[in-house]
Amino acid sequence: MPPEPRVADLRDEASALLRPLADLAAPVAPDSTPPWDQLVRIREHELDAAAGCAASLAFEGDFDGWRAAFARKRLGLAVLQRLAKGATADPTTIAADVLDQEVRTSTSSLASWLATLGSGGAAAVTREAAWFATATRRGIRSWPPPRGTTFGTRFAWDLPGRALRLEASADAVIWETRDVLVVVSGEDDGDGERRDLAWPALVAALDTGKLPASVTRLDLVSGERRRVPVTDDVLDTALTAAARAVEATMAVRFTAPPLTSPGRWCRRCRGRDVCPDVRV
Ligand code: SF4
Repeated sequence: MPPEPRVADLRDEASALLRPLADLAAPVAPDSTPPWDQLVRIREHELDAAAGCAASLAFEGDFDGWRAAFARKRLGLAVLQRLAKGATADPTTIAADVLDQEVRTSTSSLASWLATLGSGGAAAVTREAAWFATATRRGIRSWPPPRGTTFGTRFAWDLPGRALRLEASADAVIWETRDVLVVVSGEDDGDGERRDLAWPALVAALDTGKLPASVTRLDLVSGERRRVPVTDDVLDTALTAAARAVEATMAVRFTAPPLTSPGRWCRRCRGRDVCPDVRV
């Protein structure tokens, strides 16, 4: 199905903006899949790093393993999916069953990690997943959600001609009303909040060819819930963040790392043990 006219323009806009910045990425023939080993991926993480200290991208490595916070979200979203389909057990019981099923039937790295937990660790992850599902369900407000609502959706869009992919995740998508929900836990500044709202709107539009109507950001720690309609300003915010992240990522990978910019983000940086500019 052809994209909506606004999204067709948006794809052109994104291509015109990002293509010159991604010129050193591997070329990709029309209608071909970018080579995975040469693919430059721009995700929430790259956006945040580029907005804080772009030089920190030079210290990125492979996925360093499952942690409780990742597992909580992954399992919590599976609990929500079951609740939305009419499961009537309490969220903790469902979370325990989701965890058990993952360990028994999956060959995923999450299943391997869960299998290493003792009974105390498994109980803690179960409790956390149930809490995530309960708090998120409360934030969605209209429950059960309309039919077809999905939890844990990934959106991706490949830049034509170069091996560069924009990726965003949405914790819930209410397709009927085109509402996107992102769930966060904890501190962020105003710019970070705007990126949280704008990024999934942009990538969802580029991927699906349809413009979301709104994005809601739910902070599970503060309980704050903010909903914005997807306007041109929102899309501009995301495009600006994309350009910054692409520029920084390409510099790190193909030319020279950008200058450091120490700040509170240093404490999460993988380079903090070797970076001379680290701020502790
Ligand atoms: S330690 Fe701080 S200043 Fe150094 S690269 Fe990481 S974020 Fe940047």
